[in-house]
Amino acid sequence: MKDINAYKDMVAKCVRCGFCQAHCPTYKALGAEPFVARGRLEMVNATFDGRLDGYVDGVMKRMNQCLLCGNCTQNCPPGIETEKIVEAYRTAYIKEKGIPDVLSSVKTFIADVGNITGDAPDNRMLWVNNIQDKLGDVKINEPAEYAYFVGCVPSLYPSAYSIPQNFAAILKAANVSFSLLGKEEKCCGYPLAVGGLPEEAKKTAESNIQKLKQLGIKKVVTGCPSCYHMWKDYYPELLGYDPGVEVFHSTQLMAQLISEGALKFRETPMEVTYHDPCDLGRKSGIFDPPREILQNIPGVVLKEMAYNRLDSRCCGGGGNLEMNDAALSSKVAQDRISQAQNTGAKVIVSACQQCKRTLQAGARAMKARIKVKDICEIVFDALAQD
Ligand code: SF4
Ligand code: SF4
Repeated sequence: MKDINAYKDMVAKCVRCGFCQAHCPTYKALGAEPFVARGRLEMVNATFDGRLDGYVDGVMKRMNQCLLCGNCTQNCPPGIETEKIVEAYRTAYIKEKGIPDVLSSVKTFIADVGNITGDAPDNRMLWVNNIQDKLGDVKINEPAEYAYFVGCVPSLYPSAYSIPQNFAAILKAANVSFSLLGKEEKCCGYPLAVGGLPEEAKKTAESNIQKLKQLGIKKVVTGCPSCYHMWKDYYPELLGYDPGVEVFHSTQLMAQLISEGALKFRETPMEVTYHDPCDLGRKSGIFDPPREILQNIPGVVLKEMAYNRLDSRCCGGGGNLEMNDAALSSKVAQDRISQAQNTGAKVIVSACQQCKRTLQAGARAMKARIKVKDICEIVFDALAQD
């Protein structure tokens, strides 16, 4: 991750065309310049040229209200990577001014117990204990073809348990050899890396890589797009070497299992729309596998939203925004729910526990008559029963 000063030339390339405005969810929600790429870049510029007195709280607040969704970058004629610059600003601010309170708690929890909530590490296994009868034996900390890296939110938030429960059941149904890391799984480090604490994120990356090495596992699969993005892109960058682990998102593995004939479906009539998580779609280029999965379930009709794939809009949960500004996060989520409703679909499907949580809260806040589901829930429910 680059130092903020490495972005001086890039920041100077902003021609103030304003093309980013039409693509920025926080600008759409609040309609003011400090909430769009152009405004955020101008604040960084003012920091560089001395119009601002170093790194200031007010600017950090605006940087923390950025979703890091990357939609501005995608639509910026000179290709300015605003989300990378925002991350670098957060790091520079923390070096000069210290860690903001909310992030400080998360950092302490991760250092002490390896997760974002401060839960005892054993609690990572609650979701699996609940369904042991149905799943049968699940390997924990044993050699296997894949390590299933569950992530903090699916492991520790009961409202997200159904995602790992369904995905583990799908892997079992397809006879995939996998092991959980159980209480030894550590946060992937995403909230630290994007929050401005890359050195802390590096420590948790080292711990997770070490665990896989001990077990002799060379493939990791995760249902969380941010964990995926960390393992795939940030880990080599933070560590300074390629850890030699093949990384899969659950949608890639499920699409592969379907093409190999390991998963078979029954007729499941349903009109759905698919929401691309930013870290999975725009950041990682995984657009087709989730759509292939849905299109392979007989009876499922996929209705695309006006903003999809590269131009998809964030759910409101990106960039630690829920932690930093829950009201803005909800506003963005409600806008995305409206876009889903415009398709006429009865279900909005995503492939990310954070998207599910944020969108579900948004739908509840606006009393929208649309169900929010994770793709693992749709797949498991549609599996043909022997
Ligand atoms: S689209 Fe890019 S160049 Fe144009 S105003 Fe936005 S950040 Fe600046
Ligand atoms: S990364 Fe997303 S929220 Fe942040 S400025 Fe760009 S479009 Fe707006």
